[in-house]
Amino acid sequence: MGVLQQAGKILVLNAGSSSLKFKLFSLAPGLVAGVGGMIDRIGDTVNSNLVAKGNGNKWTEKVPIKDHVAAMECIMGFLSDKESSSIHKEVQAVGHRIVHGLDIHQAALLDDNVIQKLHQAATLAPLHNPPGLQGLAAAMKVFQGVPQVGVFDTAFHQSMPPKAFMYGIPYDYYTQHKIRRYGFHGTSHKYLVETAASMLGKRPQQTNAITCHLGNGSSITAVKNGLSVDTTMGLTPLEGLVMGTRSGDMDPAVPLHLMSTLGLSAKEMDTILNKKSGLLGVCGHNDLRAIIDNKAAGDERAALALDMFVYRVRKYIGAYAAALSGRVDALVFSAGIGENSSIIRGLICEDMQAMGVSINDAKNKATVGGAQGDISAPDSRMRVLVVPTDEELSIAQQTLDMVSKVKSKVAVAA
Ligand code: ADP
Repeated sequence: MGVLQQAGKILVLNAGSSSLKFKLFSLAPGLVAGVGGMIDRIGDTVNSNLVAKGNGNKWTEKVPIKDHVAAMECIMGFLSDKESSSIHKEVQAVGHRIVHGLDIHQAALLDDNVIQKLHQAATLAPLHNPPGLQGLAAAMKVFQGVPQVGVFDTAFHQSMPPKAFMYGIPYDYYTQHKIRRYGFHGTSHKYLVETAASMLGKRPQQTNAITCHLGNGSSITAVKNGLSVDTTMGLTPLEGLVMGTRSGDMDPAVPLHLMSTLGLSAKEMDTILNKKSGLLGVCGHNDLRAIIDNKAAGDERAALALDMFVYRVRKYIGAYAAALSGRVDALVFSAGIGENSSIIRGLICEDMQAMGVSINDAKNKATVGGAQGDISAPDSRMRVLVVPTDEELSIAQQTLDMVSKVKSKVAVAA
């Protein structure tokens, strides 16, 4: 930490195909969040917007943005106006959220070798990695000589043992085509277990947890001694839970059968499984708030979708309790659903006393809207925690750690 200037800043970027999210952190000397926001509709120069908030203010501006480089320049102009006129000099490192990092197991300096690897990973994550690489190219152009660090959604799950990450298919597909389970949302799961450990007064290395990141995309991770030992997502973020628009687990024969009987192409099937399935496919809505309301109004499909979502989560909690030999310190809820819906948390934890899970109804109802807390009943063997996830802070922290490590090495060598 001492090797970085205290006035310095870390910029976190999360690039999508037509968006660029950003958040600035100051070293004060801990990391303090400043202005953050996003540019959307990149490429649509008539309708692109910059939306941002921070330091008690909110902004929405129409900005004509043709590509990610223009978006990056626009963000820097905005930050030099609203945050500090010398922002270009103050940013000491840029942390990039990159979805697929293949077998990279921790945050990494984005040098030529790593960038080449990420291009290879783009075949496995065609929707996710190319935008991250575009964001990186834009940042490298705007911040010449500033360290760029990649933080990968897959990295936290690299500790999974082969028995959890291998698929039961011919081994050559693993060795020659890298087909295996990678897992996603790793930055969030890492943050959740570290925060849960500190809430329990333990170190992450002493903590076993089942972390439930339940949002539009959802995943659950089994964490043993602070490390991921299994997670619900696989080669892509399609495996596992029933999600907003993704199917989650199913017999692999189902898509094969549909493709041959309906004459669907691989691309069409991919779109159906990723964008038209899950809660949306079953009941026509992917937002659980609407589904809960529709169930209350008597919609049977909404009731079914809700039951399927909750049942799949409960099934994985049971599976992961077994993976952890029953020794689970904390069951952690996070993300849009996990942080906000006391109804869903209540349904997931209903009648689970025999599994060691029991919640206090009043605490459950009160812990919503960004609150962090312990909602367990006194007799619960597992502590049931609600932890608002903060992936940007985790990316900033990992970026800072990586840059500090590199700078210390250089200082020692000199
Ligand atoms: P993403 O995966 O897109 O990052 P989020 O973590 O932001 O998703 O979660 C968004 C989802 O959270 C919404 O689709 C909605 O289903 C759910 N959600 C948010 N608030 C509530 C609530 N009060 N009750 C139930 N579900 C909620």
